[in-house]
Parts: sequence; structure tokens; C-alpha cells
Amino acid sequence: MQFSKYTHFFDLGDNSVGVFHSLLVRALFLSKEEKSEIDAFLKDGRSLKKAKATADFLYSNYYLVDSEKEDENLYRQCVEMIYPPAISNVYIVVTENCNFNCKYCFISDIVSTNDKSKVMTQEVAKASVELLQRTYERQQHEYDKTITFYGGEPLLNFDIIQYFMQEVDRVKSKAYWPSDVKYAVISNGSLLTKENIYFLRQNNIALSISYDVDKYSHANRINRMGEETYDVVRNNIQLCIDEKMPYSLSITISENTLRNKDAVLQEILSLEPLTIAFNMLIPNKHLTPSDTYYEKATDFMIDCFKQLRNKGLYEDRMMRKVQAFIDNKLYLYDCCASGGNQLVIAPDGGIGICHGYLNDRKYFSSNVRDEYFDFRKSSDFTYWKKRSPIFMSECQDCECLGICGGGCPYAADYMHGSIYALDDRFCIHAKRIVRWLIEDLYMNTKK
Ligand code: SF4
Ligand code: SF4
Repeated sequence: MQFSKYTHFFDLGDNSVGVFHSLLVRALFLSKEEKSEIDAFLKDGRSLKKAKATADFLYSNYYLVDSEKEDENLYRQCVEMIYPPAISNVYIVVTENCNFNCKYCFISDIVSTNDKSKVMTQEVAKASVELLQRTYERQQHEYDKTITFYGGEPLLNFDIIQYFMQEVDRVKSKAYWPSDVKYAVISNGSLLTKENIYFLRQNNIALSISYDVDKYSHANRINRMGEETYDVVRNNIQLCIDEKMPYSLSITISENTLRNKDAVLQEILSLEPLTIAFNMLIPNKHLTPSDTYYEKATDFMIDCFKQLRNKGLYEDRMMRKVQAFIDNKLYLYDCCASGGNQLVIAPDGGIGICHGYLNDRKYFSSNVRDEYFDFRKSSDFTYWKKRSPIFMSECQDCECLGICGGGCPYAADYMHGSIYALDDRFCIHAKRIVRWLIEDLYMNTKK
């Protein structure tokens, strides 16, 4: 008998050890005496006394196994339960123009000020809706479906968002279109008006505003003239509040945020957004954040999570992992692109997987005008399908295997030349999160 290769230990500082099964995503706690007794039993065959019941429990729950073969069987069973990809998330990039020039933007190479060739036309929007109709019709089973209008700044091409929704209505009236599709727009918030807010609300389009919360942190989000944009966005958030338009915040954590974290947290609480999502910086040719940045950003996210959950506000990214941990479920992909579950439609109709590649159009090998396009037959989608730690050899012995989701393949490609390389900045983040999950569970269990 031996400990499973998926069993990992965490010294909890007092007399306890956290034990985490990285494939079954389960945790429990042992006293250090129990752990030593079991170690001695495994090493020298010493008989178990006080820890006998614990060892039986560990054995019946795969923390202890008879041989490597048992681990291999368990791994095979887990992999067999993974669903084939289904297009869950769709980005409709209605324009690659943007009125902002954020200092940390990772697609800044492609984003222009006012280039007509970077604006989606009605012809492309119509073909996109038809492509989605065919795609949804092929995959009629239960899974989350979201269509997100994206840019550049999507509200620069608001007419096409309206047209796209009209097309959805037209298609819906004569062909299969699932009733549970959610719609969203991710905007920099500068172009919100009473009129477009009204349209978004009438059409159930969720609004996410990229806003870095306090004036000091938001200073990275300058406009094309190099001017600060805090006041205009803050005023438009007030407009949403006045118009009773629910909104979420997409907050990029910069060094400024970390320096000013208390003010950021207070302001988030006062704004009462529906949800928030933190983004860590993605490296690009203008920006290479240090490891320390990712450590501090993760600690900040954990701090915020702890404080905001007491007020009923949950940060999306953390919450997905926390939920997987609570439900003992494998969390395979940290973004939909990773499993080949995402379509990105560029303004010219190009079909890709990840919007990061709008820069160089890598993995954009199809077009909405191709009526025979089926993502299941696309070699690009097949290639991305297995981009999860569960299939990656470097991840097999990692404590985060079943719960980290593998970070951002685009960042891994940018840093190491392949989406199948590790996104190692994200590993720093994931390892800290897993340790915190175990410690937090331990503290709550003790209570
Ligand atoms: S690969 Fe990275 S940039 Fe692309 S969708 Fe996923 S998280 Fe976003
Ligand atoms: S991606 Fe990094 S943190 Fe996640 S399982 Fe692999 S090695 Fe571990």
C-alpha cells in the first residue's frame, strides 16, 4: 500500500496536516500523530493503532492505494467522464477600434482608432447568427451558452449589436435557437447613454464595465489622446445606477491596485455591482510582470474574496474554483478557449478560438461565410480540446491538477511558444489559491 500520487499534504502550522486528493478534489485533515503512524506503517510495516480507522478511510477514498495501477484506473475513469467540447462562449468582436489606449492592453497591436476595415458589417453579423444557429442546432444538450459582444470598444459599433439581436429574433422565429442563451457586452463604459442602456436592459444583455475602481488604479486606462478616463466612466456607472441597470465590474489588477487595495475594496463595496471579475495582467511585448506581482495579486484576490463574501458579493474567477472545491468537481479549464469551447468571430468574419490572437490571427482558420464550418471537424479546435492540466504531463504531480484549470494558453504560447506549455505565472496563483482553500476549510471546520 502507498499514498496515491494524487495525495498532497499541507502543513497547517498547528498539530494538523491538510490532505488533498488533486484528482478527486477532496480534502480532509489528520493530526500529525496520525500522519506519522500511517507513514511508519507504510515504510516499515509497523502496526496501526490509533490511526487504524483513519487509514481505512484514506484507503476507501483513494488517498491510499494498493499500487500505481489503481491511480491509473482512477485517472482513466475521470478522463472518461469528461464531456466532448460544445461551444459555450462566443465572442462577437463587433469592432477592433477602440477610443481607449489602456497601458496594459494585451491586444493593443491590433486595436486602432478609426479604421473602417476593422468594423463588423451587417453581412458578417447576419452570417454569424446563422453560423451560431447551425452550431447550436448540432449540440442540443444542456450546457451554458453565452454570446458576448466585444471589441475594441463594442459600443463604437452599437448599430451592429442592435442588428445582431434583430437577426437573432428573425432566426428564432423560423429555426431552432436555444432559449437559454445569455447575452453580454464588455465595455470600457465611456460610451454608455440612457438610450443604449435602455436597449441592453430590454434585450437582457448583461453589462460588464472594465473599470479599475479607484482613480489612482484606473489611471492605466487612458484614452487615445492620452487623457485620464476615470471621471467619464465613473459618471456612466452612476448613470447605470440611476437607470437601475445592473452591471458587473471587470477589474484589472495593476501595481497601482495593489498599492491602493483598501480604497479599491471600499469603492467596490460602495458601488454594489452585480458581480466582479479580477483580471491579472497578461504579459505582452510592452509588459512583463514579475513573479512577485502574481503573488501579490493573488493575495489581494484572496483578501477581497474573504471580505466580499461576507457581503454576499463573489468574485467570478475565485468563485469558480471555490465552487469546484466545495462540490468536489474537476475544474478542467480556466477559460472556454482551453477546451475548444469558444468561438471568436472577428469583424471580418474570421473564426478563431481566443481573442488574444486577434493580434496575429493565429488559430483563425475559418470564416463565417463558410456554411460548412463545423468546429468539431476543425483541426484548431481539436488541438485546443485537450489543453487542460489533466492532459498535460507537467501537471500530473501538481497539487492543483484537478482545480487550477491551467490558466491562459495564450499567455503560455506568448511566453514559451506553445499553448501546451505551462502558464507559469498562473501556476504561482493557482498554488496559493489551493493552499488557501485548504487552510480556509480547516479554519471553518475547526469553528
Ligand atoms: S486563452 Fe487566455 S486570452 Fe484566450 S480566452 Fe483563454 S484566458 Fe482569454
Ligand atoms: S498549470 Fe501549473 S498549477 Fe496548474 S496543475 Fe499545471 S503545474 Fe499545477
